[in-house]
Amino acid sequence: MQSLEDELDTARQLAVADLADAIESIGFECTRCGACCTADDEDDHTATVFPDEVRDLQQAAATGDEEREWRDVARPMPYGLAESEDGDLEGETFEWALQTDGCGDCVFYEEDDAGRGSCVAHDDRPLICQTYPFSIALAGTSQPMGEAVSEEGIVRAHECEGLGRDISRDDAEELARALKERAIRELEEAIAVRDRYRPADPGPGEVVVHDSEGAKRMDGTPLED
Ligand code: SF4
Repeated sequence: MQSLEDELDTARQLAVADLADAIESIGFECTRCGACCTADDEDDHTATVFPDEVRDLQQAAATGDEEREWRDVARPMPYGLAESEDGDLEGETFEWALQTDGCGDCVFYEEDDAGRGSCVAHDDRPLICQTYPFSIALAGTSQPMGEAVSEEGIVRAHECEGLGRDISRDDAEELARALKERAIRELEEAIAVRDRYRPADPGPGEVVVHDSEGAKRMDGTPLED
C-alpha cells in the first residue's frame, strides 16, 4: 500500500491538462439543484472543511464588523462520536464538516421563492464545494457525498444531475486546477493530522477534534489553552 507521502507526490505531479481532459470527457454543468448542499433522506449534509477555510468563511460570512463564530461555520465530523445520556455528542473525531441548519442542510445554502438554490458564501466556498462532483482516486483524499458513478483515468465523478453536460475548456481547466489543489491539500492535511495526533481522552459530554493544527474543542479553540 502507498504511503500518504507517496500519494502526495503523485498528487503534486498530476497534470492539470490531463485532469481537464477527463472532466471534459465526463462533462458537467451545475444545474443549481442544491443536492450537494443539502441533507439527503438519511444523513445531514457532510462536507469536509479545512481549518483555514473555516476562518475564511467566518470572515466572509461576517455581518457588519462581526465575524461568525467557529461553531456557526463548522461542526465536528460526526464519525467516531457517540451520544451521551444527555443527548450531547462526546468522544474524539478527526476534521471538521460545514455546519448544518435545523434541516440538516449546509448553513450557507439558501433558496429563493422559486426554489432556486444558491450559496451565500459562493466566492469563499471550500475546495470540496468548488470541485463537486469530482474527486481524485488517490487513497488519503476525501470523497464527497454521493456514490462514485464514473471514472476517467484518475478523475472520479460522483452522483450529480449535472454530469454529462457540455463544459467549456476554460471551465474544465479551472475545475481541474482546483481539483489538483484539493487533492494536495487533503493529503497534506492527512499527514499533519497523523503526525500531530495524541489521544486526548475526552471526558463525558466532551468532544475533541483533531485537525492539522492539533486537538481542538468544538468551538475551534486549542485544547491545550
Ligand atoms: S458552502 Fe456553499 S457550495 Fe458548499 S455546501 Fe455550503 S451552500 Fe453548498
